[in-house]
Amino acid sequence: MIDATHDAALTSWVASANRDHTDFPIQNLPFGRWRPRGSREPWRAAVAIGDSLLDLAGAGFTATADMAEVLALPLAARRALRARLSAALSTGSPAEAALRAHLHPIDQVELGLPCDTRDYTDFYTGIHHALKVGALMRPDHPLLPNYKWVPIGYHGRASSLVASGTAFHRPRGQLKPPHVDIPSLEPSKRLDYELELGIVIGPGNTLGTPIALDEAEAHVIGLTLLNDWSARDVQAWEYQPLGPFLAKNFATTLSPWIVTLEALAPFRSPFTRATDDPQPLPYLDSAQTRAAGVIEIDLTVSLQTARMRAQGEGEALLSRSNYHDAYWTLAQLVAHHTVNGCNLGPGDLLGTGTLSGPAPEQGASLLELSNGGKSPLTLPNGETRLFLDDGDEVILRGDCQRAGFRRIGLGECRGRVLPVQN
Ligand code: CA
Repeated sequence: MIDATHDAALTSWVASANRDHTDFPIQNLPFGRWRPRGSREPWRAAVAIGDSLLDLAGAGFTATADMAEVLALPLAARRALRARLSAALSTGSPAEAALRAHLHPIDQVELGLPCDTRDYTDFYTGIHHALKVGALMRPDHPLLPNYKWVPIGYHGRASSLVASGTAFHRPRGQLKPPHVDIPSLEPSKRLDYELELGIVIGPGNTLGTPIALDEAEAHVIGLTLLNDWSARDVQAWEYQPLGPFLAKNFATTLSPWIVTLEALAPFRSPFTRATDDPQPLPYLDSAQTRAAGVIEIDLTVSLQTARMRAQGEGEALLSRSNYHDAYWTLAQLVAHHTVNGCNLGPGDLLGTGTLSGPAPEQGASLLELSNGGKSPLTLPNGETRLFLDDGDEVILRGDCQRAGFRRIGLGECRGRVLPVQN
């Protein structure tokens, strides 16, 4: 639904929101949480505007500072809040003088996880990732027979979600390379990242009441960037028969800002399924999904090694891909997750799975880019990587552009690998 809040000509009295390169023009208005740097105060809900944030409760837009209040808003109330924020922050608004006191430069505060998350599920909708990784294990039949029928996922671990900028130690785990008989507990030698989007649930459903496909997006507040750090050597030994476990739950990094589905409305595309692929079962198919189920988001992964930092060099771009290549839409994930009556609640998180593109250089993990750890990647400064070294920092970014609309961005999702803890 396109409305006045998407008008490309709309500008803000917050001057930095009008600059070409900002991720947060007035057409975006993503939600996140902040507190004074160095304090232990409770997190406060805010909206980003240019290089600043507006504290929602302080400015009178919410009754409490708790993000849970925003997450629980029904769709109509969420749209009304966006319209009020857009009007109050636009050039010439009479609210400017009163709101200035509640505006804080983002680089002078601490940003946390965007919300409290009770449950986290990770899907596997990146078909190009599934094909590449499947081919490394099963060259003859890379995709398992269920892939094109059922959105594949597993229940992840919410306790180890961390905010962008958090460093974490290289994990230890049971390793059993093929040539040894007895596994041993060692630091992972094959630490990897996965570029994903996080789908943040808004109102949600009660246990036993499925969410129908065309209702699904009313229960999604928006998207974040998500890095599903993965220890490939731990994963290879532990994953059968129940799937990922300790290879994945040592850290998962989220970007600070939830970019709302309302902000993403101008960047929709039709959902199509190739005629020689199975068409979705009826509960995963609708005219609404076919018309505009897909969201176009350009995604990048960059790496800055310890040596690059020491020598004052910028990051190296590792890959570029787009969310439109995902095999299932976010509404299909919500409808599938709840079809058995499973309940989703405010702040619950669904990972999309690794969002690789079709070309080999569009792999959204090192597992793909290094061809299963066999072909080293050469960085611009001459360093090489099969997997991540200590000191490596991975940066995920995303943005949306379409003629006639203002570019919006998802911000950054950053994380750094520390040496294994003694
Ligand atoms: Ca994943």
